[in-house]
Amino acid sequence: MARKLGIAAMAMELMGSLLKRKPATVMYPVERLTPPERFRGRLRYDPSDCNLCGLCQRDCPGDVIKVVRERVEREDGSRELVGHVEFEMDRCIFCGQCAYSCNQDSITFTQEFELAQVERSMFSRDTSGENIEDGECDADEDVVP
Ligand code: SF4
Ligand code: SF4
Repeated sequence: MARKLGIAAMAMELMGSLLKRKPATVMYPVERLTPPERFRGRLRYDPSDCNLCGLCQRDCPGDVIKVVRERVEREDGSRELVGHVEFEMDRCIFCGQCAYSCNQDSITFTQEFELAQVERSMFSRDTSGENIEDGECDADEDVVP
């Protein structure tokens, strides 16, 4: 009997301490927590320093990234590399490998985590309008999707 009372007292004490604790969850979306600095949220692609090397495509395990490039001949006979990068973000697993592989810091992750879309096509991003030529581009930072 004394043992049962002891267990009941311990249970009551535990319940009391749990009730006094601040909840680990918040009333989302009214309240929002700031993700940690290295959180891998929305992927950001900045074409301004991208040299179309293709390392991100080679290393992406989700087959998300396609680097489209070709050598074109200028009027003066010299050749230049032109192209763009395409993303199919519905296949992304947010592993971070693309950002790790990119030597130009062209791919980074933001802290944005509300990425839901109603249409699958919204996860496709083609940067061909952004005119990457020899790694130079005057487009502003681009966010994917
Ligand atoms: S984003 Fe980075 S890794 Fe990918 S093609 Fe551009 S420079 Fe290379
Ligand atoms: S985070 Fe991973 S899966 Fe997503 S694009 Fe980068 S390498 Fe591919």
